[in-house]
Amino acid sequence: MLETPAYAAATSSSALAPHTIQRREAGPHDVLIDILYCGVCHSDIHQVRNEWGGSIFPMVPGHEIVGQVARVGSQVSKWQVGDTVGVGCFIDSCRDCGPCREGEEQYCEQGMNVTYNGYERDGKTPTYGGYSTRITVDENYVLRIPQGMPLDRTAPLLCAGITTYSPLRHFGVKQGDRVAVVGLGGLGHMGVKIASAMGARVTVLSHSPGKRDEALRLGAEDFMVTSDPQVFKDKAARFDFILDTVSAQHDYNAYLGLLRRDGTMVLVGMPEPTALSAGPLVMQRRRLAGSLIGGIRETQEMLDFCAEHKVAADVEVIPIDRINAAYERVVKSDVRYRFVIDIASLQDA
Ligand code: NAP
Ligand code: ZN
Ligand code: ZN
Repeated sequence: MLETPAYAAATSSSALAPHTIQRREAGPHDVLIDILYCGVCHSDIHQVRNEWGGSIFPMVPGHEIVGQVARVGSQVSKWQVGDTVGVGCFIDSCRDCGPCREGEEQYCEQGMNVTYNGYERDGKTPTYGGYSTRITVDENYVLRIPQGMPLDRTAPLLCAGITTYSPLRHFGVKQGDRVAVVGLGGLGHMGVKIASAMGARVTVLSHSPGKRDEALRLGAEDFMVTSDPQVFKDKAARFDFILDTVSAQHDYNAYLGLLRRDGTMVLVGMPEPTALSAGPLVMQRRRLAGSLIGGIRETQEMLDFCAEHKVAADVEVIPIDRINAAYERVVKSDVRYRFVIDIASLQDA
């Protein structure tokens, strides 16, 4: 086993602190990756604080991983030492069910094996994420980072990028569609960039008035502050598609009223439950759906799309010892727009 420096939460009420984990040596089908950067997703905070229940401790979060292949197993065919690669939200799945065969491993019928706060396929070895210096992963669950991408700004694509790209693609958002992105955080700002790159006309709906200029700079053509109830009247029945990335509880019914007939609202944010009325759905045959990250094939497609369109996250790179303060700022919607940990800071922590 490989002794590996990491940052972990010991319990749901502890701050993250230095910790050591054991990584396995690269088996025949594995690659061992030296981690360079890891993004900080709001899901890290939900899970560290056990806001979804069932958290496993000690927890080493992090599922927006970019690094370099350090070793490859004897049977590995896809990767070579030195390749720049990514690891996203899962590191394995059953590989045999319908969703796995269709490249939608995130919907694996046996449950995907998440990158942290889960178990390997044996059901008992805990998984640890990217707030660590290296990770060992089966070669089929590794992504290729296209040449020339800025690595710190690419890490967030592995979750925030694919989580917004996948529903935009799946629900067929196209050139000229009117798209609203709700919440301008890590996911939201990627949603704005990707939907704009797809040719959509994007409006940001935000509870932070100060984000207007930024929203326009990121590619939105309009910005509305949702704390003003008038917005929900002015903008009624105007959007083809709404991507809701909000991490805190809010009234879905109000947002549904902003969809035109047959429009679709997709939830990707995962806050506490909220009551839903039939009315706004029934009245204009609107649809409400959800979407979970994306499969390996689609994640690679997203990375290639972002390379082609020069899309990357706007990030604040931090040393790992600033992680607890960073969490506080994320919770206050005070990040422009993703914290990314420089893992070199962990080597000497
Ligand atoms: P984030 O960076 O914290 O962004 C969330 C945004 O929600 C904030 O920037 C803020 O935008 C808005 N918001 C926060 N509190 C609010 C409040 N009280 N009222 C109204 N709006 C509020 O988080 P993230 O990393 O983008 O993640 C967003 C959510 O997606 C989290 O729940 C996360 O767990 C979930 N997630 C889901 C998937 C999936 O596969 N479905 C994948 C990754 C993450 P404004 O300031 O613009 O209002
Ligand atoms: Zn995430
Ligand atoms: Zn499966």
